[in-house]
Amino acid sequence: MRQRIVAGNWKMNKTRDEGLALVSELSNMIADEVSGNVQVVLCPPSIYLAAVGKMIQGSGSIALGAQNCHQKAAGAYTGEVSAAMLRSVGVQYVILGHSERRQYFGESNSLLKEKTDIALEAGLTPIFCCGELLELREQGVHLDFVRNQLTESLFHLSNEQLRRLVIAYEPIWAIGTGKTASNAQAQEMHAALREHLASRYGQETAQEIRILYGGSVNASNAEELFASPDVDGGLVGGASLKSREFTDIVKAAAGKS
Ligand code: PEP
Repeated sequence: MRQRIVAGNWKMNKTRDEGLALVSELSNMIADEVSGNVQVVLCPPSIYLAAVGKMIQGSGSIALGAQNCHQKAAGAYTGEVSAAMLRSVGVQYVILGHSERRQYFGESNSLLKEKTDIALEAGLTPIFCCGELLELREQGVHLDFVRNQLTESLFHLSNEQLRRLVIAYEPIWAIGTGKTASNAQAQEMHAALREHLASRYGQETAQEIRILYGGSVNASNAEELFASPDVDGGLVGGASLKSREFTDIVKAAAGKS
């Protein structure tokens, strides 16, 4: 049985006071909702990571995640944050290859290969994002496109390394748009990705990997989306900024809604 994950990606939102108020509300609400079968990951902007980490210290059900890291270990990269730096302030997870990073910061599959390596080396768990544009789905090439994202960025990893990864399927047309993939669309892609992992790493490893769905997940659609057998939780953007809504999503993942 794969432990479900619900990760909240705040993106570039919230002042420090607003962010810490949200964490305070969430720690109270989530403690009551989670029964150990859901791992919650909060991914605030990096400037708040240490403060948020302090607030959730000792909470087994809420972990700390970053939204990005640099591909190099250290050096003259002004303005950047390394994986080891994140680890040193208590970060456990790091989102890699979010479509906004791919689109606005030119992150390619080969760059994400480097980022995955450095994150694993630092002891972080990458939440590796993949997903297609609407036009690729309309052309019927979405499965191949997303499989290739995995092949190019991840298939150099050893079996042991791959097992430390979480994958997030996020169709780009569903991110921040209010449009969600249907259950059937999500399940089709998740099953195809698990099969793809199995073809390289074997069924046993593929069955262990958590594959999250992301793209306009909210309190009303979470239960239905999480009911698909290969959907192991969600990567949540907009709805992670509201404590009640996010808690309801966590509740849906815990099977308590
Ligand atoms: C995301 O940013 O990963 C995301 C899925 O955003 P939203 O939930 O707002 O669509």
